[in-house]
Amino acid sequence: MNPTLSQRAQKLTSSVIREILKITERPEVISFAGGLPSPDTFPVERVLAATQTILTTAPTPALQYGPTEGYLQLREWIAARHSTGSVRIDPADVLVTTGSQQALDLLGKTLIDSGSRVLVETPTYLGALQAFSLSEPTYVSVPSDEHGPQLEMLTKEDLSGARFMYCLPNFQNPTGRRIPLARREQLAKVAVEAGLLVVEDDPYGALSYSGDALPTLKSMMPENVVYLGSFSKVLTPGLRVGYLIAPQALHRKLVQAKQAADLHTPSFTQRIVYECVKDGFLDTHIPTIRELYRQRCQVMLEAMQEHFPKGVSWNRPEGGMFIWVNLPTGMDSVELLQKAIAENVAFVPGAPFFANEPQRNTLRLSFVTVPPERIQRGIAALGALIERESVG
Ligand code: PMP
Repeated sequence: MNPTLSQRAQKLTSSVIREILKITERPEVISFAGGLPSPDTFPVERVLAATQTILTTAPTPALQYGPTEGYLQLREWIAARHSTGSVRIDPADVLVTTGSQQALDLLGKTLIDSGSRVLVETPTYLGALQAFSLSEPTYVSVPSDEHGPQLEMLTKEDLSGARFMYCLPNFQNPTGRRIPLARREQLAKVAVEAGLLVVEDDPYGALSYSGDALPTLKSMMPENVVYLGSFSKVLTPGLRVGYLIAPQALHRKLVQAKQAADLHTPSFTQRIVYECVKDGFLDTHIPTIRELYRQRCQVMLEAMQEHFPKGVSWNRPEGGMFIWVNLPTGMDSVELLQKAIAENVAFVPGAPFFANEPQRNTLRLSFVTVPPERIQRGIAALGALIERESVG
């Protein structure tokens, strides 16, 4: 039997990163490819204790269907955490999702028609492109520099009628860059003036190495922003608990779309997350993640300084999990990857992170899952390879 696939399904392709990850599972490969958080940070004891408490004290609601919007106490906790001096988040605006990836999927389904204009950074998160592309938008790639999107490059035509702009202000996947305050203010001004909806995807916001935080776009223009958060990078991704905070009219539609997708995020995992975080656990846990990531980032930057040849440039992230590399012009990182894998080193080529015209001489390095000695070895091998390729 050969089923006739929908046109949408025919256009689906597998995530390039997931395909690469399969190859890099071989233990001899030093992989800077995965976007996975470090398992050294998983609070196993805490999750075990939470699970035991829940199954002892509230087994029925934990194992029963629940409301589509999510577990009320978790929604209240999320709302309180995102309420600032000037902006109060109402728990009614929170929708708990099955990872923030589901929030991206629901936003695609509720906001994009075939041909709708969607503004994205250059480059941007590949998983968002995958989620949105099912609805066949026309992407407008906003030119971006090390401080994020360059809004003055947008024309009135780009802005008018665009369904939303997708933006990652903190330690972006894939570049690791953070949008500074002035650029955030400029973005808020442009969005409010143009009546533009902004999707603010923020799974790495808590992972600033120094612990400082810049105001969210949500706090600057609450009515214009759908904020996406996640417990994947601060607790564990396997629980699949994320959330969105949306203005009411859109929230209602997102709830309906979620009902169609999976009825609700698992009652059990939502309660585990709430039980883990309710007493301020993250206030002591997150600093340990930041410190581990800061150290590994430092090790990688020092190794790159030592081993990467002239003509290669990269950024120095202030948080998060990624470093973005520009190879000499003309070099193609997809071709480089084939040769790197033969030498047991892996990274993710930059091209799939571009919605339109790819910059093929770019790549993403993730440092958080690799111990320091392997970071040094892997970067030395990669540096030698790039040197050989740029001479050759
Ligand atoms: N947004 C960004 C920018 C990400 O990097 C990721 C995870 N790689 C996600 C969303 C999805 O995360 P999750 O579904 O685990 O919350």
